Amino acid sequence: MELTLNRAAAKVGLSGIRRFTYLVRDTPGACALTIGEPDLNTPDAVKEAAKAALDANDTHYPPGNGYPYLLQAISEYEAREHDLHYAPDEILMTVGATHALYIGLQTICNPGDEVIIPTPAFGLYESLVQLCGAVPVTLPTENNRFQIDPGQLRAAITSKTKAIVLTSPNNPTGCIYTKQTLDAVHEIIKDLPIFVLCDDVYRTLVYSGEYHSFAEYQDMRDRLIIINSFSKPYAMTGWRLGWCMADAPIRERLQVILQYSVTSVPSFVQQACVAALKSDTSYIVDTFRRRRDMVYRRLCGMGLDVQEPEGAFYMFIPISRYGMDSLTFCEKMLTEGKVGLIPGIYFNTEGYMRLSYCYSDADLNEGLDRIERFLKTL
Ligand code: PMP
Repeated sequence: MELTLNRAAAKVGLSGIRRFTYLVRDTPGACALTIGEPDLNTPDAVKEAAKAALDANDTHYPPGNGYPYLLQAISEYEAREHDLHYAPDEILMTVGATHALYIGLQTICNPGDEVIIPTPAFGLYESLVQLCGAVPVTLPTENNRFQIDPGQLRAAITSKTKAIVLTSPNNPTGCIYTKQTLDAVHEIIKDLPIFVLCDDVYRTLVYSGEYHSFAEYQDMRDRLIIINSFSKPYAMTGWRLGWCMADAPIRERLQVILQYSVTSVPSFVQQACVAALKSDTSYIVDTFRRRRDMVYRRLCGMGLDVQEPEGAFYMFIPISRYGMDSLTFCEKMLTEGKVGLIPGIYFNTEGYMRLSYCYSDADLNEGLDRIERFLKTL
């Protein structure tokens, strides 16, 4: 008897980043600079709110999109902090931004549709697009200071283009899109039937530069899906909570996919989300800004031509001059130099590796010392 499983899932396979992270973890004595989550803990007030909700037996099925008090709190937060005006019924609570991206793509894509993904990019997008039976179309940006080139975007658009994913600040580069880039993208797509998945999970982790999100282009509101998450700004990656915002007609379809994928996010964590939105996380931003400056200085001191990131907590380091592909380079650096960084190929871009600075100063300094020693052996 031959068992046939879903072909799209077989083709996609498990995440390369995860695989490499496990390889680093299983290498004795290795120092990891791989992980993409804050090393800080969830603020106490957030944990207390979840404990109180459990004690109050907030353990039953909540409403599908989230409790109204939380949707209201997010609506007010977005208006106050980002000048984005979405009514509570245009907001859905999701299982992290990952699930928001999943339901977003499932909502808009049909098999054969094309989704433009500027690269380097978080690998999740390509996999989710493939799981929909749609086709990822990459748009390289590494020769344009990680900004989208308008001419290249125009050339990538076809009659099958369904959406573009915009991530700013970006994982893995930490770069933000300039207003000029966003204006150019808007000009090109504003009259086309193209959706924008606006992945803003790092938008509060910006350390320099003038930040703009594509969410500001509200004349395209009928084609915008804005995605955010509690994971990164509140050090809540394990809680698996995010949200998405969309105009009412799309929201109804998002709700269908949400309902049949998870019913809803858990009940007793939702009070904790309200506490998170109220908490002062400026210390997290200050910590990462200081680390960015320190790591950037050290990498430049090693003669590495890194583009200074404005946000998130990554550096994308060029390594093509060492004459190896990024996987070979990172494996060699791991076995010989005992330091683990993620190969650029997992972000669809050769010739780079990604460093995460979600580590203590001591670990960062140790990792950077090892990189420096390893580079001298080449
Ligand atoms: N988008 C980007 C750009 C990310 O880097 C991540 C996590 N690494 C996510 C979405 C998913 O975040 P989560 O599901 O934890 O909210």
